[in-house]
Amino acid sequence: MRFETILKNGTIVTATDTYTADVGISAEKIAAIAAGLSAENAARVIDASGCYVMPGGIDVHTHLDMPFGGTTSADDFESGTIAAAFGGTTTLIDFAIQYKGQTLRHAFDTWMKKAQGKAAIDYAFHCIVTDLPDAQLDEMPALVHDGVSSFKLFMAYPGVFMLDDAAIFRAMSRAAECGGLICMHAENGGAIDVIVRRALAEGKRAPKYHALTRPTTAEAEATGRAIALAEMAGAPVHIVHLSCNEALEKVREARDRGLPVYAETCPQYLYLSIENFDAPGFEGAKYVFTPPLREKWHQEKLWQGLAKDDLQLVSTDHCPFCYKEQKELGRDDFTKIPNGGPGIEHRLALVYSGGVASGRFSPNRFVQLVATAPAKLFGLYPQKGTIAVGSDADLIVFDPKREETISAKTHHMRVDYSMFEGIRTKGSPKLTMSRGRVIIENGKFTGRPGAGSFLRRKTYAAV
Ligand SMILES: [Zn+2]
Repeated sequence: MRFETILKNGTIVTATDTYTADVGISAEKIAAIAAGLSAENAARVIDASGCYVMPGGIDVHTHLDMPFGGTTSADDFESGTIAAAFGGTTTLIDFAIQYKGQTLRHAFDTWMKKAQGKAAIDYAFHCIVTDLPDAQLDEMPALVHDGVSSFKLFMAYPGVFMLDDAAIFRAMSRAAECGGLICMHAENGGAIDVIVRRALAEGKRAPKYHALTRPTTAEAEATGRAIALAEMAGAPVHIVHLSCNEALEKVREARDRGLPVYAETCPQYLYLSIENFDAPGFEGAKYVFTPPLREKWHQEKLWQGLAKDDLQLVSTDHCPFCYKEQKELGRDDFTKIPNGGPGIEHRLALVYSGGVASGRFSPNRFVQLVATAPAKLFGLYPQKGTIAVGSDADLIVFDPKREETISAKTHHMRVDYSMFEGIRTKGSPKLTMSRGRVIIENGKFTGRPGAGSFLRRKTYAAV
């Protein structure tokens, strides 16, 4: 058997197994996994000794080239996917946004154009639904058929993104019929809006009030309500960017009852806290995203949630805005600070460091959280998310000993600060392969913008 590439002598780590073998790649796929594949049979041999060979990461929550609050997120599908690849992510699922009065199809077409010719890794879309008359409800099965098999709804941002309970319930019921998965931004937007207006009236305008006006109770209440609506609709539900213990308890309780309820958290909630708002001057704006940062003690609860499968995966909610000129739009009013932070590049290093290197869970659990569970839940498995014969050769060579310090000076995201500035990580990818092509090697991008393909996803599968 001839191969284009053989990855030799690495330790293969999947969500379930750890063993030493070589991986033979041809025609973009994993063609063989065996001990002692002959180097003579390959055009190229990559030595992975001392490293793990893992499936490439799947980030199911990114916002590239996204309009928000009069500006646009700083990474487009070129810079964003390249930064993702540097961090070992080989697939992302971004969000196509339907604005009021538009069809879901229009949202999908618009985001397809944003990605085309730019994405360096494979990509897919969820559809954010903000307006749901009967005609759009009827579009949902067609979108699922075309590979947009999940929909994100908001219980926050009244007047912009928020849907009421009736619309949410209708969407969930329709999703249950057509195999769609509802992803929920769970915060009680109505109550939060009242608290925010009260704060502004009292002259509280600094960035930290973004966090102080969005209590954990508002997230927990909406999480519980989303779960109850899904239960009544007979639908699965995925809670996005879960940030606090109170919301985690709602998810745990539902899962203990056997409901198809899933949740993700993000590295910012595992590493940062409300103390970051003590940064000098206006710099707290760097940490303005939603849900907000919480008190420090929540971090350990979230890590334990990941270890015990109360939380099923880690995404980034990558939504970068530069400090200069973009975050600064809210200098005199925290409600005008664009919501979002950059993280697409450092998910694997941060989760491995805090999870595996710190002894909280195994390398297999790490793979499950960053690749396998995302692939299964969002209809990409086994094409993506594992190492098996016939799967896409989306692979990383991961060096568990490599230590790095995260900094805006060295990152590849198109944004002028890092949320994780100065944090030391242990373990990171040193080579990234997308469908058999090496796209990151020796600290350089060797891929091609536009080489990424749109992935038509299947319907959700339980994890
Ligand atoms: Zn988001």
